[in-house]
Amino acid sequence: MHEQRLRCRQVRRALQSYLDGELEHAPAEGVAAHLADCPRCGIDAATLREVIARIRARRPDIDLSALRRTVDALDDLLHDG
Ligand SMILES: [Zn+2]
Repeated sequence: MHEQRLRCRQVRRALQSYLDGELEHAPAEGVAAHLADCPRCGIDAATLREVIARIRARRPDIDLSALRRTVDALDDLLHDG
């Protein structure tokens, strides 16, 4: 029996919080496991992490909500279903 796996879409919704370290331990583990398993989401996560790190390096107090909305819109384009 396979254990229940997170779907790409669920992972994407949790991804920004995961990158911010805002998720509880157990969900973060689930997301990390999915990212290790799924090249598509893993690449996306690496890209997002780099983008956020670069932005925060220049603007530590920046409001990332606009970026998050952009990522959500991209997610809808790239992962339909
Ligand atoms: Zn995935």
